Amino acid sequence: MKNNKTVVVKLGTSVLTGNGYHLDTRHMVELVRQCSMMMELGHKIILVSSGAIAAGRSQLAKHSSHLDYDKDVLAAVGQSNLIQTWQILFNLYNIPVGQMLLTRADLEDRERYLRAKHTLNSLINHNILPIVNENDAVCIEEIKVGDNDNLSALTAILAKADELYLLTDQPGLFSSDPRKNKDAELISTVNKIDDKLKSIAGGSGSKVGTGGMATKLQAAEIATRSGVEVIIAKGREPNVITDLVNNKPVGTRFKVMNDIVEGRKQWLLTGPASSGSLIVDDGAQKALLTTGSSLLAKGILSINGEFDSSSLIEIKNTNNDIIARGITCYSSTDLLKIKGLHSEEIKSKLGFINGTAIIHRDDLVVVDAL
Ligand code: GLU
Repeated sequence: MKNNKTVVVKLGTSVLTGNGYHLDTRHMVELVRQCSMMMELGHKIILVSSGAIAAGRSQLAKHSSHLDYDKDVLAAVGQSNLIQTWQILFNLYNIPVGQMLLTRADLEDRERYLRAKHTLNSLINHNILPIVNENDAVCIEEIKVGDNDNLSALTAILAKADELYLLTDQPGLFSSDPRKNKDAELISTVNKIDDKLKSIAGGSGSKVGTGGMATKLQAAEIATRSGVEVIIAKGREPNVITDLVNNKPVGTRFKVMNDIVEGRKQWLLTGPASSGSLIVDDGAQKALLTTGSSLLAKGILSINGEFDSSSLIEIKNTNNDIIARGITCYSSTDLLKIKGLHSEEIKSKLGFINGTAIIHRDDLVVVDAL
C-alpha cells in the first residue's frame, strides 16, 4: 500500500451548500481541516468543487429580487465567490490554492490536454492545492463535460491519481433506491460495472446537483479503467476524507479494472467526442472487441457528422452503442467514398492514402470491454 497517495476529492453541490442555495462555510472549513491533515502527512489532494451556480444564485439574491439569471451569469458570479471562500479557508492552514477551470474542449484537443496535465501536476508538485470546476461561464453545451462527476474522473486521469472520492448526499450505491425500498443495501465493493449496476444507478438523485448515481457510475467506469480506484461516499459523514485516505471501509468502493488503459490512450477515453461517429458491421465490431484489430474501411456501414482527418470520433455498432473511440486517419468526406471498400482500393478511389487502417489500433480505445 502506498504511503503517500494522490487523491481527487469531488465535492457535489449538496455537500457544499446547506440547502442548495448558499455555501455552507461551516462544513467547508471542516473539509478543509481534513484535507490539510492529509496534506501534512504527505498526501496530495486535488479538489473538484461544484457549488458555483448555487453560490451565484445566493450572491445575486442579496442584490436584486430578479431570480431568473442564466447559468453562465450565476457561474461567473458564483465561481469567484466559491474560490474566494476556499482560498480564505485553506489560508487558515497556510495552504495555497490554484484555480483550474476546464471544459471538454480542453481535454479533447491533445495539446490542450497535455497543457492542462502539466499545470495540474505542477500545482500538486509545489504543494499548491488545485481546485477544479467546469468553466461554466464561457462553456456552451457542445464543449461541456456537463457534470462534475465526469470532470473529476478526467481530472484524476490527468493527475494520475490513486483514488477518486465522489462525495455526495448518499452514503454510497445501494442495491435499489433507498428512498423507495427500505430493504435496500449499501454495496460496499464493485469489481465490475455491468448493465445490472447501471440499471440500479438510474437517474439524478439530488435536487441541487447536476449529476446523480448514473453520472457517478460513468465517472467510476472512466477512472477505474485508467487505474484510479473510486469511492462514492457521503460528504457530510464526519472525517470522511481522512477515513478514506486511511483505507477505512466507507461508502462504495470501485476496484481498478484489469485491462487498464495506459498513457497516450487515456485521453481518448475522456468522454463522448463531438466530431462525429462511424457505424460498423458485426464483423468489424468483433474484430475490434476481441482480436485487438485496427478499424478497416470494409467494416464501415455509415458515417455521421462532418469531421476532418485526425479528429477524435466514436465507433458505434448497429444498435448505436458506442464501442470504441479513436482518431480517424480520414475525413468524413473521404470516408463516404471509401466505406465498405477493401484497403487496397483506397488509393485508387481517393488518389492518396493515409494508411490502410481508418483508425489504427494505437489510436483507438475500446469502451465496451467493461
Ligand atoms: N459546475 C457546476 C457548479 O459549479 C456543478 C456541476 C455538477 O455538480 O455536476 O455549480
